[in-house]
Amino acid sequence: MGEADNDDGLSWDDLQTQREAQARRSAQLSPAEREALRKLHLMHCPKCGMELSEITFRGVKVDKCFACGGVWLDDGELEELAGKPGFFEALRRLFAGA
Ligand SMILES: [Zn+2]
Repeated sequence: MGEADNDDGLSWDDLQTQREAQARRSAQLSPAEREALRKLHLMHCPKCGMELSEITFRGVKVDKCFACGGVWLDDGELEELAGKPGFFEALRRLFAGA
């Protein structure tokens, strides 16, 4: 079973189980409930609840919270950023708030 584990100690089976559980929870919501949730959370920091600012970071639009310093990426954005040269130095500056 060990070969299924990645470096973070999370196995792909665990991730798949969580994805399926979340899909089941989401499917139980009515469209109105889902829309209400989306409106409530859209462009608000999931950590501190303040409004997020959309900034362009190395050609990719990311959501940054200037209140707590959090940076939020949509699906696929981390992969897109990670493929660019100088990514880690730029990321360090982004999290430092510069
Ligand atoms: Zn925040």
